[in-house]
Amino acid sequence: MSADTLLSVQKLERHFDGLKAVDGISFSVHRGEVVSIIGPNGSGKTTTLNLVTGAIRPNGGTITLDGERIERADSARIAEHGIARTFQNGRVFATLSVADNIEVGLHTTLRAHRPFRRLSNLFLLRWIPLLAELYIAIVGTPASRRERAAIDAVVESEIDRFEARLGRRRDDPAYSLSYANRRRTEIARALALEPKLLVLDEPTAGMNQSETAEVLAQLLELKAAGQSILLVEHKLDLVMTVSDRVIVMDGGRIIAEGRPDDVRRDTAVVEAYLGR
Ligand code: ADP
Repeated sequence: MSADTLLSVQKLERHFDGLKAVDGISFSVHRGEVVSIIGPNGSGKTTTLNLVTGAIRPNGGTITLDGERIERADSARIAEHGIARTFQNGRVFATLSVADNIEVGLHTTLRAHRPFRRLSNLFLLRWIPLLAELYIAIVGTPASRRERAAIDAVVESEIDRFEARLGRRRDDPAYSLSYANRRRTEIARALALEPKLLVLDEPTAGMNQSETAEVLAQLLELKAAGQSILLVEHKLDLVMTVSDRVIVMDGGRIIAEGRPDDVRRDTAVVEAYLGR
């Protein structure tokens, strides 16, 4: 593993009732790199992201982030280690404001507030977020005065990042937002953690062309700023434009990997995916 390697996945396996969803894959993401995973539906892309982010455990293989093994760590711990993610269909707390939704992500890393952290874990692990919403509604988001100032600064800088879209919505509940703005809020929440690796599961799913172009512009900006990104995305134009490397999965395996132009030319890829 070179010093530039941020994420290293080795012989990763995950079965579901005998189905090999992820069948011994190995790949890495270097610092500052944008790596995309493409492949037909059911090829194991989301399962791979779920393994890397600790939502599920592997049956075999290793995952190393910045030199530390994380394949047995839970998702809150992995967030602390520096991986933040968004979900395929976008997940926000419906009754919380944009600002509070962004703040929620930060509490996963605040050791001082274990009870809250546990609630955040529930959310990350796909449990009903109602509990966390109730907690914030009744108790407020827990933080000392010093933490509060630091948290507010991060939240404001993330809202600034999406100023044109979220600037006037900062105090609006997430349920009142457009779908695209809910997804922007989710990306802002992940970025608030200043993750070493940002994991995005179909960030443009359900978006129209201009919204997709906006996401692409954001991704290029993040990439220019040196953000390492692991991306699953169906829109190939976006993938080919933003990625340094593309991994192609089919049937739980990696069938091709390389620079966007090389992957486009690979006949196995064309047969498995692009030609369909
Ligand atoms: P992709 O993201 O490429 O569409 P997935 O990783 O979602 O593929 O799924 C890979 C395979 O694993 C599929 O056959 C899917 O049905 C199966 N699978 C995924 N998650 C589960 C699960 N929790 N239980 C059973 N089978 C699953």
